[in-house]
Amino acid sequence: MELCTFEINLTNKEIAFVFSDSDLKRPHKKATTVSFDKVVADMINVNYNSIREITDKLEVKIADGKEVNDPISAELYSIMFSSENAIERIIASVVEYYHLETKKQMNKSLKIKSWEKAIKAYHQNLYKEIDKSKAFVANGFQFDKYHAFDMTVSFDKNRPARVILKDSFRQFIDIFTYMVYLKDLHIFTCKNCGAKYLAVADMDYCTAPECLEEREKAKRRTKRQSRKYDPFVRPLDNFHEYARGRKREMMLAGATEEELAAFEELHKKHADYIRGSLDAFKNKGELPDDEFFQICSSYKKELKARADYVINRRKKNHKD
Ligand SMILES: [Zn+2]
Repeated sequence: MELCTFEINLTNKEIAFVFSDSDLKRPHKKATTVSFDKVVADMINVNYNSIREITDKLEVKIADGKEVNDPISAELYSIMFSSENAIERIIASVVEYYHLETKKQMNKSLKIKSWEKAIKAYHQNLYKEIDKSKAFVANGFQFDKYHAFDMTVSFDKNRPARVILKDSFRQFIDIFTYMVYLKDLHIFTCKNCGAKYLAVADMDYCTAPECLEEREKAKRRTKRQSRKYDPFVRPLDNFHEYARGRKREMMLAGATEEELAAFEELHKKHADYIRGSLDAFKNKGELPDDEFFQICSSYKKELKARADYVINRRKKNHKD
């Protein structure tokens, strides 16, 4: 019987689940792939009230001396197949697994009192494990403070292993946290959306598309900042900016394509020289000297003279 199987992909940091109601004649199967980050978020946000209502009902049924019945299974399957929260789906599957196994055993023995006790103990332990796992994640996986991993499956580090989850929620948590430990992942909080995410080092942002975009923006900001103060870049940026200003004036005055192209040619020639000089200074490990800055300023004057000439000509043409 397989209600929940999963494969962990350590490279992509995701888990591929298959949920199935395999005890029925025509099993319904649903596959879903969940990122490690989503597992962490779901562990924190898990709301098991609806499952608790079901397990409470299950206990009452047993106490009434009746067998556990199918409507309860149907409720668990509905959570297993349609909850947005992966942890809730897993919990529903382990409860149902236990429930089905119990049902089989009960057919053999009718000592209701002892079943009642066993089921109660199972549920109590389950909710204790869920609460423990919630606290564990909230504390950022403090491995030393948590119990040792209870590994019943062996793993090849580089290959996904298929695990059949039976009635133990703890088994899933142990395997997942062991993977987190293997990959040396830690929990961080996204600067943009506040979500928790797993990473080897603090990346400031999680991997949601809008947060990655924010991260790129921040990167560009820092790059601009450092460029602004880089002595081997700033004089060239400054020269380009100056040339752009003069070109705008020429365009406003109605300069022709040819006049603009000739201006651009001059701009490019001087910019190449400035870039080459800056590289040479950088390679020598020296800061640009006075002579260099005098050359830059003479180049600017040259550009200005060219632009002024064109602008005056356009003005004259306009008057004629
Ligand atoms: Zn985010």
